[in-house]
Amino acid sequence: MADRRERVLAAVDGLADELVDFTAELVRRPTVNPPGEGYEECARLIGRRLQRGGLEVEYVAAEGRPEHTRSHPRLNVVGRRPGKGRGPVVHLNGHFDVVPPGEGWTVDPFGGLVRDGRIYGRGSADMKAGLAAAVYAVEALRRAGVETAGALEVSGTVDEESGGFAGVAFLAETGRLARGRTDYVVIPEPLGADRVCIGHRGVWWFEVELHGRTAHGSMPFLGTSAIDHMAALLEAVRSELKPSLAARRTAMPVVPEEARRATLNVNAVVGGQAAGGVQTPCVADRCRAVFDRRFLAEEGFETARAEVRALLERLAARLPGFRYEVRDLMVVHPVRTPEGSPLVAALGRAIREVRGREASLVASPGTYDHKHVARIAGIEHCVAYGPGVLELAHQPDEWCGVPDLVDATKVLALAARDLSGGC
Ligand SMILES: [Zn+2]
Repeated sequence: MADRRERVLAAVDGLADELVDFTAELVRRPTVNPPGEGYEECARLIGRRLQRGGLEVEYVAAEGRPEHTRSHPRLNVVGRRPGKGRGPVVHLNGHFDVVPPGEGWTVDPFGGLVRDGRIYGRGSADMKAGLAAAVYAVEALRRAGVETAGALEVSGTVDEESGGFAGVAFLAETGRLARGRTDYVVIPEPLGADRVCIGHRGVWWFEVELHGRTAHGSMPFLGTSAIDHMAALLEAVRSELKPSLAARRTAMPVVPEEARRATLNVNAVVGGQAAGGVQTPCVADRCRAVFDRRFLAEEGFETARAEVRALLERLAARLPGFRYEVRDLMVVHPVRTPEGSPLVAALGRAIREVRGREASLVASPGTYDHKHVARIAGIEHCVAYGPGVLELAHQPDEWCGVPDLVDATKVLALAARDLSGGC
């Protein structure tokens, strides 16, 4: 038994160079989202690699989704290594879209440079290294001669950075990821080789539109300024709502520490006349603001929404002519892997073995594809675990460390073997 585990670890060491090359090759595909460049080529690169490792490969185009177009097809890839019997099915999923490179790079963001033990480039950490780790974890089991009772699956999916609707959500909606069919899901997002991420807070994006009454700008007392009312709303948010949110803490281990609280960000404020245009003297009769509220599992969505309504009602009672509308733009409920999940335990054991330390459990400040796995597919045993430094995601000169990548691949291989009844 111990001998077989040693063989798996040796197999990963033996394929480390290929693993790094494959990560660099993925980075050289500029799968920038938006708009979703080069997805097909990248999906086929992953598919060919999986096929060479003996997996059955299926390409899944997001038929019917509006973002799946002729110029920017949304193509996902799923590989499957059937089990030798009836055992739990383990699915490793990574997104291969990346955010645009932005400014400030000192290396080519799509060059796939490997230097001093780091792989550089947009998407190296978030999350092409993780995807490569998933592919090569299964490959290492094959090379070590490990048979598993349950199937092992690896998928590469699109559009995580823009919500994942044509990616993981699509696999869930079409039954490829489903409770009863899939037992455990690991998403190798860059949380670091020692951390297991068990979920995220909730998100409520909403827009508040205030309506005033226009009048000549030389006689503003004859109108009602929607901008003045927005100023009152923003001041109430700052002095009343935010302190009350900051006093709430979730029991979930959200990192960084400050994100354990409920938070709110004002994303946009637009009101009155367009600032760039010719101005006429008018009282603003319209002002809109977009808010990004991150709520805690302990609060729940309805409570978060009722609290904002109550604040608006208090303002309406105090300020004559204060008229408002609230529109939900996006709601994502919090998700959390259940306490005592065998998936968390298996990763914990593997991390102890490979890294020589205890795994720390964390939760993500933002959301990722976990929500679709939990909410649409109904699979509760899902976590994020993968190589890379979370804070480097979406930054210039993004990189992933090679030792981290190799260790995370070992951890994934050992955990996948344990969970799927490997011998
Ligand atoms: Zn990511």
